[in-house]
Amino acid sequence: MSESRNAAIAGAAAWFDAGVLLADLRRRVGIRTESQNSERAAELVRYLTEEIGPAVERLGFRRTLWANPVAGAPPMLFAERSEDPSLPTVLIYGHGDVVAGHDSQWTGGRSPWDVTEAGDRWYGRGTADNKGQHTINLAALGQVLAARGRLGFNAKLLLEMGEEVGSPGLRRTCEARAESLRADVLIASDGPRLRSDRPTLFLGSRGAFNFDLVVDLREGAHHSGNWGGLLVNPGVVLANAIASMIDARGRILVAGLRAPPIPRSVRRALADIEPGEPNGPAIDANWGEPGLTPAERVFGWNALEVLAFRTGNPDRPVNAIPPRANAHLQVRFVAGCDWRTFIPAMRTHLDLLGFARVQVRPADDEPMAATRLDPDHPWVHWASASIAATTGARPAILPNLGGSLPNDCFADVLGLPTIWVPHSYPACSQHAPDEHLLARVAREGLGIMTGLFWDLGEPGSAPARERAAPPA
Ligand SMILES: [Zn+2]
Repeated sequence: MSESRNAAIAGAAAWFDAGVLLADLRRRVGIRTESQNSERAAELVRYLTEEIGPAVERLGFRRTLWANPVAGAPPMLFAERSEDPSLPTVLIYGHGDVVAGHDSQWTGGRSPWDVTEAGDRWYGRGTADNKGQHTINLAALGQVLAARGRLGFNAKLLLEMGEEVGSPGLRRTCEARAESLRADVLIASDGPRLRSDRPTLFLGSRGAFNFDLVVDLREGAHHSGNWGGLLVNPGVVLANAIASMIDARGRILVAGLRAPPIPRSVRRALADIEPGEPNGPAIDANWGEPGLTPAERVFGWNALEVLAFRTGNPDRPVNAIPPRANAHLQVRFVAGCDWRTFIPAMRTHLDLLGFARVQVRPADDEPMAATRLDPDHPWVHWASASIAATTGARPAILPNLGGSLPNDCFADVLGLPTIWVPHSYPACSQHAPDEHLLARVAREGLGIMTGLFWDLGEPGSAPARERAAPPA
């Protein structure tokens, strides 16, 4: 490894140890960017105009605020630092909004809007999701600039403020501004590492499709003594319909909801992956698709989940046949599946088995598509080698995250190879009270990102360009 590369990473560590990253993060956490709370609209804009905008300007970026194509949705920050069109261009993505603070529920009276340290933990809303993560990445750019005097590549930043409400307008923005967002690769950070001590790359995300099953048979309830045996019970029909779709061991029985065969490169990448976490629940051995390893079950396959089921009044049951039953279900699915085919497939399945009375309705939430870059893609080898050079160990490579991200905007709309380098970990309490970032993971993440950006700027290091021809 070159001496100057090592010096850049050592400089980043010293900068971190001096408390500068923590100070930046504390200021950012202090801006209450709850996107689910309509009263925070001005704070969402302020995060871009008063905090991140000036910070990237100091890194030599030109910045613009992009209005959201969806009326009422928050604007996005686009910023660009161009050094030379012949150099590689990276697109960096992040989100500055957070979920609700749940201010009263944090342990020990902590405020979600200040960063409090406890041992290795930095508590605060957004420390993990996503302010801490994009703060690390922007800091790494600053470290490379300080060490090299230039990046050695072109950088673009897209920061949205609506990720926690389903990224309204992100896809349309990518479609409409594809030329401005043109790059060779997306490098971004969100979500958890496989484990806190294992640097991780993920290359896409599973998709998510939520839907309701409804059996609505009659107006009101009827006494179960006088009518039991005479009237169809919607709860029983719904339970049987679900049982026809997924068996008692979690195997999906609807052909159109099952994953395609797992590609060999994906199996190879997953061979050394053990999902789960030290204090998390024990993984059930006999659940899901038979013959798959736990890693293949969560990262390489689809899952059908019953999230809620209701008939009658579960809190106060009465002796009556309920008129109605409904369940809320979800399919988490891998690349190669198109959610648009799910409802027709379920309709055919249910009709064939005599469940014509079971209605299938898409939920209100916007479905998320599945994406996955091939683990054998040159950008994956490049990123993996860079991380190994920094940390001394090969990172875990997840073909996709088990959860969902708006990665289809980048992978499908912009056609970019997508490299995600998460700086959080599974027990970070993301979206809950006591969200936190681990300082040692943040410090290591800063080193990893400094190494990645250093390498990106080394002549001849980045994979050769295979850009699509510009639109005519
Ligand atoms: Zn989130």
